Amino acid sequence: MSLDYTSLLLAVGFSAACLGLTLFGMWLTARSERFLLTWAVSLFFVVSDIFAYDAYIDMPGRLLGMATLALLLLGFSIMLGAAYQFRTGNSPMPRTIVGCLSLVVALPPMALGYDGLAFMFENLFAALLLFATAGEYWKGRDEAPALTIGITALYSATAGSFALCGMVLAIDGRLTLGHAPSNWAEELSLIIVIASMTGIGALSLALNQGRLARHHRRNALTDPLTGLLNRRALFDLHGDAPVGAFTAVIVFDLDNFKAINDQFGHAAGDEVLKVFAKELASNLRPSDVAARMGGEEFALVFKRTLPETVASAAEAIRAGFATRQFKTETGSFICTVSAGFAFGAKEGLSFDKVLSAADRALYDAKRGGRNRVNASHYRRAS
Ligand code: GH3
Ligand code: MG
Ligand code: MG
Repeated sequence: MSLDYTSLLLAVGFSAACLGLTLFGMWLTARSERFLLTWAVSLFFVVSDIFAYDAYIDMPGRLLGMATLALLLLGFSIMLGAAYQFRTGNSPMPRTIVGCLSLVVALPPMALGYDGLAFMFENLFAALLLFATAGEYWKGRDEAPALTIGITALYSATAGSFALCGMVLAIDGRLTLGHAPSNWAEELSLIIVIASMTGIGALSLALNQGRLARHHRRNALTDPLTGLLNRRALFDLHGDAPVGAFTAVIVFDLDNFKAINDQFGHAAGDEVLKVFAKELASNLRPSDVAARMGGEEFALVFKRTLPETVASAAEAIRAGFATRQFKTETGSFICTVSAGFAFGAKEGLSFDKVLSAADRALYDAKRGGRNRVNASHYRRAS
């Protein structure tokens, strides 16, 4: 069975329409993934172009020619915007608008009857827009190298096939054709588009699913109120490895926090938790880890450190926090914090054990009058 150009063109149209509908359906179930909608819209224009172009093949005319040209370049400009939106999360508009400038160059020759020149411009601008789209994925390749490099390659192949069509028309040199371009490059381009579109669709959806999975995992490990790691994340990071003599765990527990909630309300309590989390974060080195263990309890893990360093860091956090004034409609207040810390040992202790030792030191700090830092006896023993 041999397929003619029109059948191939319609095959591209139907598969682009299916991909567009799939993307639109995915956007309906995940509305925050706005790029899916942008991409679906771009395919709507591309599909419209394919059917307009099919009609142009049968009835070449200026108006239909201008419509097919505008639909294709608009569709590829929006596709470039979608790729930018996927990479950065920003609006697709600026890229799309720049892409649409191609219409200013490509439309007038078609309106004036120079269809050969117009189709040459159309192909070259389509190639530029697709190369720029490939570039967006290339810039974002760190996220998932294998998938993004695959997508970059497929967009580049498609771009190359349009460039080839443009060059064949340029070499041919006729300003007016009177019909749709028909040469070996056009046929090759259709075959490349069919192959690439399926690949681009599958790889892009896999890329997006991977991003969603990473997003969910990050959410599962982050405390939503403070943005710090949660207890689970801390145990994922440190729970299994033995804790050596130069690693310390510091636990903090806000003092009389229940009374603050009772007197000033839960929202004021939440604000205190956020401010304390910031106080923690501002006293950390890049290698230190901070987590909210639950309620008003926090933990820090310091690696390659010494007792004096840990004591002074905990003390700086305690003292810094005690100076913070909280203002509410029912009055202002301060909140204090108590801390306990413990070190691992040369032979390695379990993380649980060091955490319990730090907890006991914290309990002693509470009994000693609160608003203080207390070292575990493990420190003295090691
Ligand atoms: P102590 O000095 O002995 O630690 O006394 P405390 O009042 O801080 O300790 P307690 O364990 O009695 O109270 C802890 C309070 O923390 C009780 C709970 O309502 C409050 N809490 C836990 N999680 C949150 C939260 O996410 N937001 C707010 N606003 N309060 C919370
Ligand atoms: Mg507590
Ligand atoms: Mg408390």
